[in-house]
Amino acid sequence: MRCRDAKRWLDARRESNPEQADDSALQEHLQKCAACRAFEQQQRRIDHLFCATVPAPRRVSTSISTDQIMRAIQQQKKITQQLEDIHQQQQNRVARLRTVGTAVAAIGFFTLSSIPLLLLAVTIIQTDLAVQILSLLNGVIDILIILAQYLQAGLTLVTRNNWLLSGIAFAVVVMMGMWLRLMRTPQEA
Ligand SMILES: [Zn+2]
Repeated sequence: MRCRDAKRWLDARRESNPEQADDSALQEHLQKCAACRAFEQQQRRIDHLFCATVPAPRRVSTSISTDQIMRAIQQQKKITQQLEDIHQQQQNRVARLRTVGTAVAAIGFFTLSSIPLLLLAVTIIQTDLAVQILSLLNGVIDILIILAQYLQAGLTLVTRNNWLLSGIAFAVVVMMGMWLRLMRTPQEA
């Protein structure tokens, strides 16, 4: 009897009734072959394990062959491996994102910090351009000042002729001040 036949016989014996088969050839082979003896012992151990954990009829436990258990173990290993792969991929992705984020932040910071330097460079190199920009700003400021003067003149005109209006304006200013104070207090606390 060859080892392959012996193993097939052992599997068949587990699935059928052990007593009914005539297994003298198998016993003979088992006495000679250590590998098949180990295989049979492994089978017995697994059967024993199943009988201990599953208090079901022996029929149930014997219907699961060693190959099936081995296949299940292999599958389990494969699933574990896949989970580890996914975990690894996620870690790689996070690391990559972190690198990209750092780069973007560095570029943004560099750009922002270079604007004053750029303005300084423009002031030094293109003096005319800088003067033009400043004069443009001055124009805007002039307009604002003129508007404020008009507003002041208008207010003066109104308040000079009407004490009631000035009183209302004063009350509005006081109320606005109180309102601002009330709004600010919770933030400071
Ligand atoms: Zn053998």
